[in-house]
Amino acid sequence: MSNVVVLGSGIVGLYTTYCLINEAKINPSKIIVIGEHLPGDMSIKYTSPYAGGNFSCISPNDPDTLAYDKFTYTHLAEIQKKLGGPTSGLDNRPSTEFWDEYPGDDKINSLKAYLKDFKVVPKPQLPAGVAYGITFTTWNFYCPLFLATFRKYLEKLGVQFKRQKLTHISQAYLPHTIAVFNCTGIGAFSLSGVKDSSVYPTRGQVLVVRAPHIQENRMRWGADYATYIIPRPNSNGQLILGGFLQKDNWTGDTFDEESKDIIKRTTELLPKILDQPLEILGVAAGLRPSRHGGVRIEAETKEDKLLIHNYGASGYGYQAGLGMGHKAVELFQNNKKVYAKL
Ligand SMILES: Cc1cc2nc3c(=O)[nH]c(=O)nc-3n(C[C@H](O)[C@H](O)[C@H](O)COP(=O)(O)OP(=O)(O)OC[C@H]3O[C@@H](n4cnc5c(N)ncnc54)[C@H](O)[C@@H]3O)c2cc1C
Repeated sequence: MSNVVVLGSGIVGLYTTYCLINEAKINPSKIIVIGEHLPGDMSIKYTSPYAGGNFSCISPNDPDTLAYDKFTYTHLAEIQKKLGGPTSGLDNRPSTEFWDEYPGDDKINSLKAYLKDFKVVPKPQLPAGVAYGITFTTWNFYCPLFLATFRKYLEKLGVQFKRQKLTHISQAYLPHTIAVFNCTGIGAFSLSGVKDSSVYPTRGQVLVVRAPHIQENRMRWGADYATYIIPRPNSNGQLILGGFLQKDNWTGDTFDEESKDIIKRTTELLPKILDQPLEILGVAAGLRPSRHGGVRIEAETKEDKLLIHNYGASGYGYQAGLGMGHKAVELFQNNKKVYAKL
């Protein structure tokens, strides 16, 4: 009997399921996660396996997103512990972030209040063209492994996972369902009953290389580019090199000239990548589920049942998604009439 349905098995759906169990205290056996794609799959319609993935300064500066980032960063240790420690594909690494223009007081004041080992890079140590830089200890995800470990953890607690493609959101309501969490990412653009035309892709291309000698993150943010170097924990030395932020580009194809440009920019940013011969393991493209107006975390009531939207995480689903799940589950708990039915 599934009282609560989480539609979507990407990182946002998994974090939301986690919050349903840990915060709303829903019995895991009353939750079913439905997805056209599940952990272990690869598809251009399933963004989560393609993420870099780390906690960085990519997210926008509005108070809600800054709060989602903070909530996630400060609660990931708890998730890491529950999932079995660093072998889950989640671990800490040092990070350096550079900006060509100062990112603003809102962002920096927020980050410095909670990031571990936060320091501002002294001006004389900044590379040419960089206006501002920070170092801190971040969270790194080996995303495909982390998704698989997270699913196993939730299944062990009693959550069911089911592969199904829905054509209309109403199909998510099973006979005893009282609440559906819509965590469909880029799928929210085309799913009938939702069809959110504010959703658009921000395409990225990344290279996966083997470079066990690089165990640090390095990011550089420019007005029209993003260059990033992200180690994958517990991956036998895999390193992600990126990238691109291409608005409204829906293609899952990868392009040789983009790979060459990524190698040029990342090896300039961190020359010691080339201390060992560059072994390219793969090239991939992914679509960040962006949304005009930012993430949509909103509840709709439908004849005594709830539909809670939770999508639009763009380039920050791993680093903000737990905070998003927390907020979405709070909306559920606040609807006393429906919540009391459990
Ligand atoms: C190149 C790249 C690098 C990135 N790096 C980072 C990073 O370093 N840090 C970070 O925090 N974020 C990063 N991101 C962003 C992050 O990957 C996304 O924010 C996140 O994966 C979005 O997760 P999601 O669960 O919303 O969507 P998805 O992972 O796409 O999951 C959507 C789920 O909904 C299901 N679904 C959709 N439509 C339907 C339907 N009609 N019927 C049934 N099921 C449906 C899908 O099958 C899937 O299970 C990166 C993204 C890219 C592309």
